[in-house]
Amino acid sequence: MMLQTERTYVLRTTETTWSAALSQSLREPDCCYAVGSLDCLTSAQANLLCLRELQSSRTAPQGQDRAELESWCVIVWMDRLTSPWSAEQISNRFRPRHAQQLVVLCVDAQSPTAGWSGWIVERGEIRRLDGFQIVGRNPVISERQVSSSDRSGLDIPNEDRYSRLQPVLGSTYNAVRRATVLLIGASRSGSVAAMELAALGIARLIQIDPDLVETHNLDGMFWATPADIGRSKAVVNGQRLHQYRPDMAIHPLTVSIRDANLRLPALCDLMVSCVDDEIARRHAARLASRWLLPHLDIATQVTAVGARMNPESAAEPARLESSTGRELRADVRLILPGEGCLVCVGGQATKEMENFERFAPLSSLTPDQMQPWNQQRLGSLVTLNALAVSVGIQTWLQYQSGELAGSIWHRLTWRSPTDLAIESGYVRGRQPCEHCVIR
Ligand SMILES: [Zn+2]
Repeated sequence: MMLQTERTYVLRTTETTWSAALSQSLREPDCCYAVGSLDCLTSAQANLLCLRELQSSRTAPQGQDRAELESWCVIVWMDRLTSPWSAEQISNRFRPRHAQQLVVLCVDAQSPTAGWSGWIVERGEIRRLDGFQIVGRNPVISERQVSSSDRSGLDIPNEDRYSRLQPVLGSTYNAVRRATVLLIGASRSGSVAAMELAALGIARLIQIDPDLVETHNLDGMFWATPADIGRSKAVVNGQRLHQYRPDMAIHPLTVSIRDANLRLPALCDLMVSCVDDEIARRHAARLASRWLLPHLDIATQVTAVGARMNPESAAEPARLESSTGRELRADVRLILPGEGCLVCVGGQATKEMENFERFAPLSSLTPDQMQPWNQQRLGSLVTLNALAVSVGIQTWLQYQSGELAGSIWHRLTWRSPTDLAIESGYVRGRQPCEHCVIR
């Protein structure tokens, strides 16, 4: 017997797309509709319907003018129409073909935050849209209904546990408590990020990492003990996190982000990548762009400065000769949907790596992989990991509270005891980009 579970249907668009359609509708009062194609991502729990572009229309768009199997969306500016519509009138008005999927969202253009109603027409059946999300500088998450599993973090009385946090987060508190985060990497920075997100009270964490705990991970991977050597990093993290936050839904996945068959729950609010190779980072960027997810990437590096390495053989671990310096560097980038992706925003120290990020195919060897790693990198440092992660998670909190004016990049560089430099700036992707489209 097959167990049938009810999927949630959520429409997601970017603030850029939404604002452009709204302003055009206000400029042209006789435009009652905006129409665009949808990109659908189906997981076990949810159908995510991503809307990347909208065109204004004076007349009701018709299914016969769209492709046979297309998923498409119509925004109806209700203030232009004389009376609200029933669900049945939706089908009659737009006449979607039988194999099409049509989403209809009714909004008042004069007061778009006042509320919405939405329907999905699929194979002759009509059902309600469960959620509508606008992601961007001022994220808007509007849900018609939230299933009990989605509210797992909110059902337990937590007044005492979060009594110090709630006044600090203010109006952002509820959004953080409801958040689902996809975290790529469960090792050094990944384990710190998991701990901070759990401490902030998020509702659900999906953590993926294909690797096993090794002895050399114990100097920087929180939660792991000597008894965990040989076990999955993601599972070890998940078990310890469950003890710490039994009310949080935790999904450890022992796969790689590069896995082409990976089907992740679509309804994440944030993707965090804590990976140490560029290929995995580029895969994450591509997925975040496709799912319209805010993408927080945290990268750290400890390198020798002006040093001669000894020995110089690639087969041996690097050692610094005495009286040379080291540079600690962290790059923290939060890229918002519709403003580019990690690849075209750049931020790499060298032109060679930046060109690689922009132009190399996904399966390429990175410049780092082409030369012995110990000619540049010395290793990892837990203090740097924790510093970078804290900057990243705090940046996400600022995004949640609407304080950010766009995608942002922080670079921390520490060359000597009196030379800790922090550079921060808003960034935007460059087109054309192989991985994203900015409209
Ligand atoms: Zn891009």
